[in-house]
Amino acid sequence: MLEQIRNYANEIFQEAVAIRRKLHEMPELAFEEHKTAAFIKERLDMWGIPYQDGVAGTGIVATLENGAGRCVAMRADMDALPVQEESGCDFASQIEGHMHACGHDAHMAIVLGTAYVLSKTKETWQGTVKFLFEPGEEEDGGARPMIAEGVLKQPEVDICLGIHVMNEIDVGSVRLTEGAAMAADDEFDLIIKGKGGHGGWPQDTVDPIVAACQVVNTLQTIVSRNADSQDAAVVSIGSIHGGTTCNVIPDSVHLQGTARSLKEETRQMLQKRIEDVVKGVTEALGAAYELDYRLLYPPTVNAPEVNRLVEKALQPFDEIQVTWTKESSMGSDDFAFFAQEVPSAYIKLGSGTPQNRQPLHSSKFTIDEQVILNGILTLAAATQQYLQP
Ligand SMILES: [Zn+2]
Ligand SMILES: [Zn+2]
Repeated sequence: MLEQIRNYANEIFQEAVAIRRKLHEMPELAFEEHKTAAFIKERLDMWGIPYQDGVAGTGIVATLENGAGRCVAMRADMDALPVQEESGCDFASQIEGHMHACGHDAHMAIVLGTAYVLSKTKETWQGTVKFLFEPGEEEDGGARPMIAEGVLKQPEVDICLGIHVMNEIDVGSVRLTEGAAMAADDEFDLIIKGKGGHGGWPQDTVDPIVAACQVVNTLQTIVSRNADSQDAAVVSIGSIHGGTTCNVIPDSVHLQGTARSLKEETRQMLQKRIEDVVKGVTEALGAAYELDYRLLYPPTVNAPEVNRLVEKALQPFDEIQVTWTKESSMGSDDFAFFAQEVPSAYIKLGSGTPQNRQPLHSSKFTIDEQVILNGILTLAAATQQYLQP
């Protein structure tokens, strides 16, 4: 049975590479993936794989059905980034200022390739497979609206697989994370309001710059004093703006920050403590504040049984090494919403080499395309394993 998967994966590999390169040339930003969607549909039509389009805007759900049985879903994100490409590759972006710098072009090629392989090997599995092409991962996220439109229902999805290429991992390696694979990502805007005036008469003012400095420093005690030292959390202020010149105390200061965590309870603690600190410090200094705290993506937590399924499915493949880690990335991915609904694994696919460790989102980002074959084998073997007749 594995031989068939291997043969069809090898057969489609070069075409999947061509698909990735074509998509790389035509990057589209979040929720604008119209040409991308048309290109994916063209392939699905060519291979006779049915789909529903217009899901959460530009998203597509392709489905393979083969009798009664369980249901596996797998996700490929579709969007590119507002980055000017500097990779120097022959199939570089042809769109000024847009680039597939997060590898989503490879994810689409891998999931399309997997759909091809599973469509050709139906005698080796029984049940349903859904291929979720998700728009807008880099911005507001397509996962939540896709779930709201029912992609995990009819039939009910039992497990969900997510993939992401990673250049810090060597190509040939597939990394599984115990627990949270990606962090929760929340952000906030804070305006500290004082009373402006002359820099020589601070007694007649409420200085929002002094208050902002105290707030920034005290926020750093949340991770060092309130979070469990065994549990990762980050609070970063990325932007601070106030004032115009040396001898004027301004009326207000605007700060922006991000809070990241790996557990839901830590996430809630960060949110509560950030507001406590802002409220307490500004009040003590006579200032007021406005805090806009936005909960974005939850932590992406892998289910142990899905991790083990992937590991077991990959055992026969000598060319792929499964490695385990307990370390989460402090990046985030809205695949988290699928993982909240059904047992899931977010699989990190090695795409790097000692000569290429360009990080995700870099204008020089490139991958070793062997990862496309490894990704197809991973998704097809895990699906076949789970849907054994
Ligand atoms: Zn990204
Ligand atoms: Zn990404």
